[in-house]
Amino acid sequence: MKYNILSRGDDNSNMLANKIKSSLQEFDLIFDESEPEIVISVGGDGTLLEAFHKYTHRLQETSFVGVHTGHLGFYADWKPDEVEKLVIHIAKTPFKIVEYPLLEVMIRHHDDQTERYLALNECSVKSMEGSLVMDIEIKGELFETFRGDGLCLSTPSGSTAYNKALGGAILHPSLLSFQLAEMASINNRVYRTVGSPLVLPQHHTCMLKPKSDVDFQVTVDHLNLVQKQVKSIQCRVAEEKIRFSRFRPFPFWKRVKESFVAE
Ligand code: NAD
Repeated sequence: MKYNILSRGDDNSNMLANKIKSSLQEFDLIFDESEPEIVISVGGDGTLLEAFHKYTHRLQETSFVGVHTGHLGFYADWKPDEVEKLVIHIAKTPFKIVEYPLLEVMIRHHDDQTERYLALNECSVKSMEGSLVMDIEIKGELFETFRGDGLCLSTPSGSTAYNKALGGAILHPSLLSFQLAEMASINNRVYRTVGSPLVLPQHHTCMLKPKSDVDFQVTVDHLNLVQKQVKSIQCRVAEEKIRFSRFRPFPFWKRVKESFVAE
C-alpha cells in the first residue's frame, strides 16, 4: 500500500511523523507523495484540513487518518502514544472506510469566470467593506436579504467547528446535508432575516447574490480568499466525499462529548 505522511511542521509532529514513516517502511509499505492510498496527518485538525486540500483531486483513491500532537481533534483523533498500534493496523489489517459529505462552493464572477472549491468544514463569507448585504436564494427562490457580519455554510463534520461558535446545530456526519448559519444579522423594522440556522438536504442549492459590487473575504476551511467582482456564490452538497480510514469505533457523539462536555 502507498502512503504519505503530512506533519504540522513543529518539532514534536515532525519527530512523530518520522517515527511513523520508518515503522511503515519496516512493513514494506511504499512512501508515495503523489498517489497515496492513505494519508496520515500528524498535528491537529488544521493539518488534516491541509492534507484534504492537497488531495482533493483523488478523493476516490485516498483515505485519511489523523494523529494529534496537541489536544484531541475531530479529525486528528489518534494519540501520539497509540501510533505503534496505528502502524500495525495500517500494515496488517484491512480497514473500514467511512465517508463524510463535503460542501461544493462555486464562485461566479461578472466576467463569467467560475471557481470551484470543496470544503471539509465550511465556507464563510464576509464583506471587505461594511456589512455583508446579500440576497439568499434557496432552490432558485429568494428566501431573504441578509445584512450583517457574514454567513457560514458548513458540512455536517464541520458543524462542530466555526458553525458551532455561531450557534449552529451539531449534525451527525452521516446526514447528506449542509447548514447555513448567520453571523450577527441586523434585525429591526427595516431588515429581517430568519435568525435560525438552516439545514438543507442534498440537491438543495443555496445561492448568495451580492447587492453591491464590493470585495468579499471568503474562507474555504483554513484558506482565505479575497474575491472581487462576485456575481454569486453557490453552495450545495458535493458529489465527492471524504474517506476516513477507520481502525476502531469512535462514535461521533462520543467525540462530541469528549471535546465539548467531559472526558
Ligand atoms: P485554527 O488554528 O484557528 O484552529 C481552529 C480550531 O478549530 C482548532 O482547535 C481545531 O481543532 C478546531 N477544528 C477544526 N475543525 C474542526 C471540526 N470539524 N470540529 C471541531 N473542531 C474543529 O485554524 P485551523 O486549524 O486552520 O482550522 C481552520 C478552521 O478553524 C476552520 O475550518 C473553522 O472551522 C475554524 N474557525 C473557527 C472559528 C470560531 O470557532 N470562531 C473562527 C474561524 C475559524
